[in-house]
Amino acid sequence: MKTPRDYEGSLRAIEEMVALIEHTVGERGTVGIGIPGTVSQRTGIVKNANSTWLIGKPLERVLEERLGRPVRLMNDANCFTLSEATDGAGAGFDSVFGVILGTGVGGGITIGRRVHVGANLIGGEWGHNPLPWPQHSELPGPPCYCGRRGCIETWISGPAMELDHRTCTGEARTTHEIVQATAAGDTNATATIARYHDRLGRGLASVINVLDPDVIVLGGGMSNLPGLEEAAAAAMRPHVFSDTVETVVRRNVHGDSSGVRGAAWLWPND
Ligand SMILES: [Zn+2]
Repeated sequence: MKTPRDYEGSLRAIEEMVALIEHTVGERGTVGIGIPGTVSQRTGIVKNANSTWLIGKPLERVLEERLGRPVRLMNDANCFTLSEATDGAGAGFDSVFGVILGTGVGGGITIGRRVHVGANLIGGEWGHNPLPWPQHSELPGPPCYCGRRGCIETWISGPAMELDHRTCTGEARTTHEIVQATAAGDTNATATIARYHDRLGRGLASVINVLDPDVIVLGGGMSNLPGLEEAAAAAMRPHVFSDTVETVVRRNVHGDSSGVRGAAWLWPND
């Protein structure tokens, strides 16, 4: 199904999808939805959504009316983390920090398989903190759409790696091309990947120094970089405020399906 890019179209697509699934399985189900944004608990209104046509809309209430049942909505990075914590790379761990490394950088926290939403609904959102332990050459850092400079997102998203490579080498390459060049022994590309690892490690160390999760699960397109979990674990170690680091770093298990699986887990079988 093509993703609609307007409010009414989105509502209709969800209605049709629920009807189709229930018709197929012959049962009435619960509905959980992951959205690229959050729903204000005070007003029930969607905010911070990059599907901008959802912003300012009472999505949860309207869907409950149209589907005739309670609906649970959650930020998609939180859904990713819940999915991986329940039966993915974070299964069996108490506290899980889920990381999205894609066109943007987000994250979520679960403790005991429950999402920590937070007072401002930004629990786990680490992408717009400044890159920690910056080197001289990293200041003030690239401008970010949020209005700040040098946000973690401006260093370790996919577009950020491409920008960094272009800035340091003058070569316009995609992340895929950079990875391929590394395999062919290209020293510029190898250096770009090394800077990426180091920055990711620093970013994660700052999370460990506050949250100290049992496991960090990497997701999003950039989590497919070869050897990323081992490289991130090594790079974060010197910055963690502890002489031993027990934190496990893993790649996600459920890939692109993790978000929707986590949305389904908003209705656990308990
Ligand atoms: Zn920012």
